[in-house]
Amino acid sequence: MHAHGDDDGIIELKTAEQFEVMKQAGLVVSGTLALLRSAVRPGITTGELDRIAEESIRSQGAAPSFLGYGDFPGSICASVNEEIVHGIPGSRTLREGDLISIDCGAIIPADPAQAAAGRWNTRGWHADAAITVPVGEVAPELAELSRVTEQAMWAGINAVKEGIALNDVSTAIDGYTRAQSRRYGIVRDYGGHGIGSAMHMAPMVFNYPVRGERTVLTTGMAIAIEPMLTLGKNKTRVLADDWTVVAKDGSYAAHWEHTVALTPEGIVVTTAPEE
Ligand code: MG
Ligand code: MG
Repeated sequence: MHAHGDDDGIIELKTAEQFEVMKQAGLVVSGTLALLRSAVRPGITTGELDRIAEESIRSQGAAPSFLGYGDFPGSICASVNEEIVHGIPGSRTLREGDLISIDCGAIIPADPAQAAAGRWNTRGWHADAAITVPVGEVAPELAELSRVTEQAMWAGINAVKEGIALNDVSTAIDGYTRAQSRRYGIVRDYGGHGIGSAMHMAPMVFNYPVRGERTVLTTGMAIAIEPMLTLGKNKTRVLADDWTVVAKDGSYAAHWEHTVALTPEGIVVTTAPEE
């Protein structure tokens, strides 16, 4: 899920203690996404995936950060095929050959009692991540689309370093994608974001270099890095449900995301299971 441009532009710097809580949130999200990945199969509905996610998040002492955000009705975004992001989970049944992107966010609440009923505005510390999963056997070009999107995300993550320009991260994502023999649409209408005591905070994390973007990465920052690629052009359109973002040309899309923290002990991908 993405910022609606409602932050004040101030970059929040986290303490080591706050990062520890963000790591807990990251484990909740990575565990939930692992559960969802294994649940994806032909015949399951996106609504069933949403119920699995909410149950997983709350049973781990966290609250779903998507639920109620701008009145969003789910705990995950489930975006299938030409849907890029913000798909609303519901009665849609997944079919063999579909490609589904699942985006998930969780909050470790300041008040543990909030794990049972908390939602987007619960006070606490956030994690945000997304995966793309093949439903059964998918066409080779769809598997490759997902692989390239995931690797573009890792190109961005691997560029993260204390003291470098945030724009270098954006350049790494864009550069990796453009180095492929096939041409992909690099979606520009949505992107990554700062994260911490809210899901969406400054700075914006673009998936392409932006002239004049001068943010420098420093210890204490946390950002969500989330490239979205399509097999066609990068233009998007929002469906009549006011949420679902699709590729304007109907081409299939993939979306991968991790939350990355610049802690005093180094770079930590909070939503990647520890090796
Ligand atoms: Mg997300
Ligand atoms: Mg995000």
